Amino acid sequence: MKITFYGAAQTVTGSKYLIETDGFKLLLDCGMHQGKRDVANELNRKFPFDASTVDAMILSHAHADHCGMIPVFVREGFAGKMYCTAPTADIAKFILEDSANIQEQDALYFNNHLPVGQAPIEPLYTEQDVKKTFSHFEPVPYFRLRPEWTQLHKNVRFKFYDAGHILGSAITLLEITENGEVKNLVFTGDLGRHFLPILRDPEFVAEQTQTIIMECTYGNRLHKPVTDLEDDLKNIITGAIKNNSKIIVPAFSLGRTQELIYVLHKLINENQIPALPIFVDSPLSQKITRVFNTYTSDFDEEFWADFGEKGEHAFLFKNLITTASIEESKSINTKPGPYMVIAGSGMCEGGRILHHLKNNITDSNNIVLITGYQAQNTLGRKLVEGISPVRIFGVEYPVKAKVVVLNELSAHADQKDLLNYVKNVNGLKNIFLVHTEMPQAEGFKDLVKKELPNLSVDIPVQGEVFEV
Ligand SMILES: [Zn+2]
Repeated sequence: MKITFYGAAQTVTGSKYLIETDGFKLLLDCGMHQGKRDVANELNRKFPFDASTVDAMILSHAHADHCGMIPVFVREGFAGKMYCTAPTADIAKFILEDSANIQEQDALYFNNHLPVGQAPIEPLYTEQDVKKTFSHFEPVPYFRLRPEWTQLHKNVRFKFYDAGHILGSAITLLEITENGEVKNLVFTGDLGRHFLPILRDPEFVAEQTQTIIMECTYGNRLHKPVTDLEDDLKNIITGAIKNNSKIIVPAFSLGRTQELIYVLHKLINENQIPALPIFVDSPLSQKITRVFNTYTSDFDEEFWADFGEKGEHAFLFKNLITTASIEESKSINTKPGPYMVIAGSGMCEGGRILHHLKNNITDSNNIVLITGYQAQNTLGRKLVEGISPVRIFGVEYPVKAKVVVLNELSAHADQKDLLNYVKNVNGLKNIFLVHTEMPQAEGFKDLVKKELPNLSVDIPVQGEVFEV
């Protein structure tokens, strides 16, 4: 089989891997490139292969860097099915609608402030384009829930294992038969961690597998244990209450927000923190939280012990306030602290968080709480790196608020988890490290070479082709 790495190759966005065998073409993920606007635009506007020749697609999970280009893929002629779990299908539809909305607004804003001599821009896709993708989604349960393979072609079938990364995330085991020889390939998508709130732990594949395409976001880093999360949150919130601080949380609407709400609710229930007002100022988070409520049967045992068995809603409690309209969102800024506001986008590249940052970042009494990975060149990354002043809506603001990073909620495996995963794949020969930046990937490659010297480890560049 031939594998071409069309995205998330030595970078963490734009996941796209094309598998070709016996005239059959299968795309693994169809993610959007994020980051520096002109580079992202360039990569997203030109689809790197003829979409109409692809027979099927598998979607690992609903993060935009894995699904965000689906509307362009369909518009350019993809006519096949897109296989994913049911929660992934439900969530991806919201993520794509939101993405179309942002792009339409961005284009409108840009064109209304068009610099002299520049041509107007078109949104990458519209809500109409998104609607046309819906009929292509084909939900497939995890193998543990329905032990049946899904046949894609006479020589190609697959099954889903739980990736434990976000709700619905799947590890794909592909079984490809070439000239009578069975070749198994595992695509991890994004790999989760043990002990994350709500989610089940990542599953190991049972089958002999020769090749793995593995995410390596944190190949050279160890996370703080998830078990530190409750204590750290307790300290932050106790301090904020004492100082009447506002805690500004850039929200990853999918996953991180629900996990954060879950832990805060648990701490309040246990009287470990006072019930401060928590605003969820993100319509997208609210929609996705509703999807979470329909798949509680997928949640882990702790959820059932903490909330489920008591008949209690994990994502609904007295001092959790959701805001819908822009007016409601703006009115938060006039309220005195202490409070927490959770607003998108997670890397501070757009959305309501920019208004909350603009209004609060210059006050040393306030806290910016970062809960997830910040890609290069994003405002979130600048805040984490301590850069000041930062530019928001074209104006420079000195960063005086305290920037606190909570690594415990990372939904990605760290170096130890990744190595453990590799060690649990039987018969492995080739590892392709994707969804990673260079120092992380090289660090992990060195470690694998030391611990498992017989394995071949590659860090493909964009567009690189391998035969396995
Ligand atoms: Zn992800």
